[in-house]
Amino acid sequence: MIRSVKLNWLSEYVDKDGNNALVGRAKPVEDHLIFKTAVLLYECHYLKEFHFNMKSLAVATAMLKDASPPLTSIDFSLPHRYNWEDIYRVFSLPTLVTLVIRNLLSPDRPAFRFPPPIPDGLHDRHAISNIQDLSLLECGPLTQSISPLFQWPRNLQRLNYSPARSKCEPYWRTILRRTGDISDAVDLSLQVLAPLQSALQELQFDLGLDRHWILPFRTGRLFESFTKLTKLTAPVELVMYSRGLSRSRYNLPFYNNLPSSLQGLELKFTILTSWHSRPAHSDLDTEACLISDPAHQLFDELSTLAIQKDGQFSGLHRLTLTGDGDRAFLVRCRHADDALKDLEDNDVQVVQRDWCRQSKEAWI
Ligand SMILES: [Zn+2]
Repeated sequence: MIRSVKLNWLSEYVDKDGNNALVGRAKPVEDHLIFKTAVLLYECHYLKEFHFNMKSLAVATAMLKDASPPLTSIDFSLPHRYNWEDIYRVFSLPTLVTLVIRNLLSPDRPAFRFPPPIPDGLHDRHAISNIQDLSLLECGPLTQSISPLFQWPRNLQRLNYSPARSKCEPYWRTILRRTGDISDAVDLSLQVLAPLQSALQELQFDLGLDRHWILPFRTGRLFESFTKLTKLTAPVELVMYSRGLSRSRYNLPFYNNLPSSLQGLELKFTILTSWHSRPAHSDLDTEACLISDPAHQLFDELSTLAIQKDGQFSGLHRLTLTGDGDRAFLVRCRHADDALKDLEDNDVQVVQRDWCRQSKEAWI
């Protein structure tokens, strides 16, 4: 009896000479094969897990046209042009628990274009989907136009919003040209998720700002209203104020951005410079710090989490510090160690990934 099925296209089909056997007809052959294989499995009535990884939304649309296959997990990439009705049909599939959508914004190069708006008829649909785990990968900016999508799941527990910086940058540039300040748009990017505030337990969130972004903005109480949130992953520059990139609208400490339900916080360092700004060819040892370094304010902020553990964040037990792909750039000085020890002494495990500079690295 088959209980679990995973259909994945991991690579192009290669013949015995190493050539792609599907050249020239790859897409229709792949689509046809995976479609037919899935249809054969419709009759397995005891499936607990039926994962389906397809190249395009078009395959899902074809499958769902006249049937409700017992799929529990779907992963697909959106083409440059798509219909929201087709995406809504995927959300509506009763058995579906996990959904991965890639490329939910189609930049038609060379001119950047926003995605097609969700039709009015789909705006007032609420709680029609059983999806609990949603990933939006290689996504564009979260703007108000996409908000109705987050009303569809009745109990979404995990959201992974991983924007592609190249797709978001034109949006942030437009806002900046128009208003001279992106503060409101930053707050808005989280208000878009308002329908999920009382359900979401895990959130991975990024703004998709360009990594060399240097203009400061003000924020509200960013994640505070997500009352069930136990695990949050976000850029350190968004949540905390010591970098000087973001500031509170209300003159509140940074931790007012966080919900008191939090158990695990992962901070990603996404901006490349200025935690330890140095003149070129500085004589300072690369392991040395200056008291004026913004990095010290960062670790002061982190140690206030240890103090707050007695009150606001009693469930917090893990802090993860991690880089975001490029080389690490914080000095691991004794001030940093002291702050992290404060956390450990208050039963907050500190998971340290690649955040600190190696001694051989030069200043940038
Ligand atoms: Zn120091």
